[in-house]
Amino acid sequence: MVMNKNFEENLPYGRQCVNEDDIDAVVRVLKGDWLTMGPGVEAFERSFADYVGVPHAVSFSSGTAALHAAMHVAGVRAGDAVVVPPLTFAATSNSAIYCGGEPLFADISPETLCMSPDAAEKACAESTKPVKVIAPVSFAGYPADIEAFKKIAETHSATIVEDASHALGAHRGALKVGVEADMTTFSFHPVKHITTAEGGMVATRSPEFAESLKRFRSHGIVKDPGDFVRPYDGPWDNDMIELGYNYRLSEIACALGESQLRRIERFVSKRREIASLYREKLSHSDGVVLPPDHPGHSYHLFPICVAPSDRKRVFERLRANGIGVQVHYIPVYRHTYYARTYPQAAEKYPNAENFSAGTISLPIFPDMSGSDVDRVVLALMEALEK
Ligand SMILES: *Cc1c(COP(=O)(O)O)cnc(C)c1O
Repeated sequence: MVMNKNFEENLPYGRQCVNEDDIDAVVRVLKGDWLTMGPGVEAFERSFADYVGVPHAVSFSSGTAALHAAMHVAGVRAGDAVVVPPLTFAATSNSAIYCGGEPLFADISPETLCMSPDAAEKACAESTKPVKVIAPVSFAGYPADIEAFKKIAETHSATIVEDASHALGAHRGALKVGVEADMTTFSFHPVKHITTAEGGMVATRSPEFAESLKRFRSHGIVKDPGDFVRPYDGPWDNDMIELGYNYRLSEIACALGESQLRRIERFVSKRREIASLYREKLSHSDGVVLPPDHPGHSYHLFPICVAPSDRKRVFERLRANGIGVQVHYIPVYRHTYYARTYPQAAEKYPNAENFSAGTISLPIFPDMSGSDVDRVVLALMEALEK
């Protein structure tokens, strides 16, 4: 039996939701023939692609590996530029650097907290290097306006790689996140919408991208005679035609992922319910700015803003009360590695700076109860008092 967790002591900001079906699915794999590279990988990829509404989904050992592969397959090489928002997890821009690319930061829009298409257009126009990829992030689960980025990408012959690590289950109109961009990456870290412990996925409509993604995931090796560059020698033969990695996701992880995916609609609707409870209870609170809403938001995070001068006090008081708040994110260019390698003037990114200075992510995950929400709201009200 899976015990209902009691979050009395400590309420995390995010947490996996694992049930008996998930456990059974994993145990079945452990008792079977295939621990990796078996039929469960394709089964999970098929279910995932069907859910998102694309013909192809390629699994990876992490969301970061998925991003690395997408950047490689999009053609990012030494001397290229990749446009990314500064308000994201470092992995988005790191993946460009893995390929030899240089990240070009484009500020966020305060209305969406996602990369501003205008700022991205400006970054592309000013770039001295060819822009190979534009990489919007659907921040917190708010679906980024891919339509707007498409026009810019066309002008610069760039590929759109959307980092949708926050946005599984989100949609813009009738289109799920994952359908519009050339490639869309997802993460299955335990705080994300579904988990495989570690894991990731790239969704794409392109059969060429899908094939290249699979090759990159497995050392750059091909086995089909038709894919050989040199002459094919016989059924034992294989050819490493480019440098790839071992970025495969195990059968165990895929079984967990497929079982989790069966409950995705419930996970997303629970997150939306918690978000609307927060909205209802915080709408009249002075000094609290609520995150932007959207009908297709899938609420990986619920990032509020307080006055930057209050943030530290409020954050520390919430933590002292057992509320596992976090900050998403420190602008990427502020990390020491980035400051040394790609120094930026913070004044170029006023929206990311403003948001980042005051934001606090409140707990949000499917197993949170209404009384957990009440507890967070009460603790926040107390923490806001001077
Ligand atoms: C979680 C996350 C990633 C990386 O995913 P991992 O599976 O942890 O490697 C990348 N980008 C964003 C925005 C994320 O939130």
